[in-house]
Amino acid sequence: MSKRDYYEVLGVEKGADQKEIKKAYRRLAQKFHPDRNPDDETAAEKFRDVSDAYEVLSDEQKRAAYDQFGHAGVDGQGGGGFGGGGAGDFSDIFGDVFGDIFGGGGGRRRGPNAPARGSDLRYNLELDLESAVAGTTVDIRVPRHITCDRCDGDGAEPGTTKDTCPTCQGMGQVRMQQGFFAVQQTCPTCHGTGVQIKVPCHKCNAEGRVRETRTLSVKIPPGVDTGDRIRLNGEGESGVNGGPAGDLYVQVAIKSHPIFHRDGKHLQCDVPINFVDAALGGELEVPTLDGRVKLKIPPETQTGKLFRLRGKGVKPVRGGAPGDLLCKVVIETPVNLNDEQKDLLRQLQKSFDGSNSHSHSPKKTGFFDSVKKFFEEMKP
Ligand SMILES: [Zn+2]
Ligand SMILES: [Zn+2]
Repeated sequence: MSKRDYYEVLGVEKGADQKEIKKAYRRLAQKFHPDRNPDDETAAEKFRDVSDAYEVLSDEQKRAAYDQFGHAGVDGQGGGGFGGGGAGDFSDIFGDVFGDIFGGGGGRRRGPNAPARGSDLRYNLELDLESAVAGTTVDIRVPRHITCDRCDGDGAEPGTTKDTCPTCQGMGQVRMQQGFFAVQQTCPTCHGTGVQIKVPCHKCNAEGRVRETRTLSVKIPPGVDTGDRIRLNGEGESGVNGGPAGDLYVQVAIKSHPIFHRDGKHLQCDVPINFVDAALGGELEVPTLDGRVKLKIPPETQTGKLFRLRGKGVKPVRGGAPGDLLCKVVIETPVNLNDEQKDLLRQLQKSFDGSNSHSHSPKKTGFFDSVKKFFEEMKP
């Protein structure tokens, strides 16, 4: 049920202006128009896709909502706001037993008068690592449909009366004769409601719903990670015909951090040290999310060595012990040496050559032994 990207459907760039969008629509609509492609289901489907895409992209307000929220931002009602997705990767922190993510799905197939659940909405929220680990409260602005408060979702201007639809006599359905068959169809005059609104509500123009941008305060629990979703029950689109509202899903993504790399509940960071400290051992200050801590480096520490600081990682959102911080030692080659320093290094080099030089380079010794063995074994 995943929907194609509207820009892709029209074959235009994301930044296309209205002229380009209109041009693309005209061309495709002519190509796939049902009059030109009688009895061609594929063309009919393409024509619908193209029309859907144009309806959204030609309306700046809808387009803005689509750009920010994807299909969930512009889906009318009932049709399951989430395309694709699948329940597999779904992890719901505040999951409750009520409601069904794709609960709106049946809305269109039922009668137009039947209550339909509003669409779910998705909001993509980027958090920095510190806020994700500590938990935070963020204000987000969510555009959505809500029940019109002027007419209470009724669609008629308050105080006015409604007539029974003259076309269907209030049935909401009409019978059409097609050859030998009589086909039941939704009444084209009242769209199935059975009534005719004499004076449309001034606020919603008989829609029963209005678009409104609301600011919601969302509590982010400590420990959330990329891919987590926080469900806000009933904060999605309002339902139609008295149906329940959909839910709002806040989809979390963690921004990359200049120091720490997150791997589930564990954190990693590179700690550069100079080769003298590495050789002689020493004490380093390393960063953790709650301040600096001292880390003892033993003598003869090699580059790439990992030091584990237990419990200095992230406390998982679903509970359990906090993870660890893994500090990876990266030995740096000194730069900008003055003549005196270069001289000292040459002296050091000389002293290595004098003594049993291999004993100072554990890796190098092993490496050259392996190389020697490798070439010996290659000989026929
Ligand atoms: Zn209204
Ligand atoms: Zn009617």
